[in-house]
Amino acid sequence: MKKNWMEIPKGGLIIDSNTSLENKTGDWRSMKPEFIPEKCIHCMKCVFYCPESCIPTTAGDHPKRLETNFEYCKGCGICANVCPKNAIVMKEEEKD
Ligand code: SF4
Ligand code: SF4
Repeated sequence: MKKNWMEIPKGGLIIDSNTSLENKTGDWRSMKPEFIPEKCIHCMKCVFYCPESCIPTTAGDHPKRLETNFEYCKGCGICANVCPKNAIVMKEEEKD
């Protein structure tokens, strides 16, 4: 149910942290990025440019890119565009 103006924080401020975790953008997707690990040089460009921050990495001084988190990936294709090794290919999403 929507809140009225007296129930929302003053100035419309977001006062809780991690609220974007509740906004699962994966169901916006019509295209899906397919990651090809053999081509990846782990340059992290896709990780930095992804607007949903949904490409996880390993920890440490030389992080490795891991598989996309599809709960949040909205299929924008930015990762595929910035990848210098064509290690990400956009494919049509298969809906059930
Ligand atoms: S398609 Fe967009 S949202 Fe999904 S991983 Fe690539 S950059 Fe992120
Ligand atoms: S941009 Fe391409 S090469 Fe770089 S980490 Fe991402 S998938 Fe790997």
